[in-house]
Amino acid sequence: MSAFPDVVDKQPQLGGPDALTFPADWTLTTSWRRAQTRDSKANPLTDAEFMVRLEDRGIHRVTFAVDGGELVADCDCQGWHFHEWCAHVAHLWWKWSRGRLVVHDLDADRPREMPPAWLTVDREGEC
Ligand SMILES: [Zn+2]
Repeated sequence: MSAFPDVVDKQPQLGGPDALTFPADWTLTTSWRRAQTRDSKANPLTDAEFMVRLEDRGIHRVTFAVDGGELVADCDCQGWHFHEWCAHVAHLWWKWSRGRLVVHDLDADRPREMPPAWLTVDREGEC
């Protein structure tokens, strides 16, 4: 018997970040459009985290790394909280896929200057 029967289901998911799932039609999302702004900064904070600022909308702490053979991501913004997709994560992907960002592979303990070929983000051919 719990004294707080409603609390359990409302707990946020804790623990490590989940593997990044790109939403359907992600290249059409507003986040993806915003991600490509030139007015941006993405500074490495730790091996797995970046501080990201897009335009003048505030700085967000974003986890973005390769872990367990998957790209894991997390962001402290509202967009990520509600949709698990946001312009900050999209921005890091945009930079990385163009060779403008170094992302750490936590398993291999080495930097990756481009997304590895085995890292697929589009679920083509599933229909
Ligand atoms: Zn975000």
